[in-house]
Amino acid sequence: LDAAAARRRHGPQVVISLSAPRIRRGVRKYDVTICGAGFAGSVLARQFAEVSGKRVLLADRRDHVAGNAFDCLDAAGILIHRYGPHIFHTNSDDVFDWLGRFTEWRPYEHRVLARVGDKSVPMPINRDTLNALYGLDMRSEAEAQAFLARQAQPMDKIRTSRDVVVNAIGTDLYETFFQGYTRKQWGLDPSQLDKSVTARVPTRTNTDDRYFTDKHQAMPREGYTRMFERMLDHPGIDLALGTDFHDLEPSDRGALTVYTGPIDAYFGHRFGTLPYRSLQFVHETLDQARFQPVGVVNFPSEDVPYTRITEYKHLTGQRHAKTSISYEYPSAEGDPYYPIPRPENHELFRRYDALAAAEPNVIFAGRLGSYRYYNMDQVVGQALAIHRRLTARQAGTAAM
Ligand code: FAD
Repeated sequence: LDAAAARRRHGPQVVISLSAPRIRRGVRKYDVTICGAGFAGSVLARQFAEVSGKRVLLADRRDHVAGNAFDCLDAAGILIHRYGPHIFHTNSDDVFDWLGRFTEWRPYEHRVLARVGDKSVPMPINRDTLNALYGLDMRSEAEAQAFLARQAQPMDKIRTSRDVVVNAIGTDLYETFFQGYTRKQWGLDPSQLDKSVTARVPTRTNTDDRYFTDKHQAMPREGYTRMFERMLDHPGIDLALGTDFHDLEPSDRGALTVYTGPIDAYFGHRFGTLPYRSLQFVHETLDQARFQPVGVVNFPSEDVPYTRITEYKHLTGQRHAKTSISYEYPSAEGDPYYPIPRPENHELFRRYDALAAAEPNVIFAGRLGSYRYYNMDQVVGQALAIHRRLTARQAGTAAM
């Protein structure tokens, strides 16, 4: 089979071609040293190398690029996301176009079902969800709005994420979809979590069953890793994989540092550790072409320990006689995934952030550097904005 025929037959294939750690010690000095080859670090590496003509060293302690968006072929040759399903969506033309330089896009609208008893119903809640759950036949938005208004239990003061949901759609829907899921996901009851977790309950009265409504919804045609490989393929960028930033030699450090690792780790956890919620993924390949009707099925009930199952072929469009899925088990231990939104954690972050602001020639960026849950497009937008700001500042200094 030639490459085109192979792709038609098997769908996208990804060649992970990045080689072993590579630091050109002694060959040249770096202008910019970057910790973390996820979206934040890699976008900045490209911008500094290409637009500013800087020599960049990009280090990641993992043995691959792409951070948590990393995808690879599993033993069966199916493209999976090692750190859980990553679906790209954005309203920003700038972000979409910038990334589009390094990948073709495959249109993909994400759909999610929630398993409630023996029913699978659309998530976010829409009119079909309500009809299926309550055995109704509502045909208009007005009917669904009136139904939700009867369910809602308005509250004077909204303090927690439980209040947000109950206030908007009442206890029955709250208990069905939010209570168990949140307890599993966060290890905390919604009444103990900041209202920001569910600040907006995306409940629809129409029958739109897309998970996102953004202007651009698409996946990198050959996967995220391939997109990152192209982004980092620039003569000004050296890549040191399997290398902890804190183990770099002083001579590897440029005049500017970009740090996209955990902000508390940079400062030796001197005020204490910023808490994160983690996930364990159990990946499986099944001897059947299709497992479930959509990319992700959620399990809001506490009767099962996992929160969702992902079937990757829906996301990637790959054709293959087998299929690969992953189960997600929330856990307290493991890689830092979700900052836990409680006031005391935010306060702790502010103390680190004050140290960061006073740290000369170091920029903190990305999800871990900002202790905020950001989507991929937000991280790309943040990185592009940081580079623009620094370039403008430099131009201002040069003009003086
Ligand atoms: P990361 O991708 O975490 O990259 C940081 C990198 O820094 C890592 O590779 C890490 O190894 C490295 N690092 C840390 N410390 C050091 C050190 N000391 N030395 C060297 N390297 C270090 N976003 C979406 O838009 N859509 C989705 O569907 C989506 N799904 C998600 C699902 C899950 C389960 C999770 C956890 C996140 C999801 N996200 C999604 C968010 C997305 O993962 C992030 O927006 C994105 O990965 C952030 O990029 P980053 O560069 O800030 O961080």
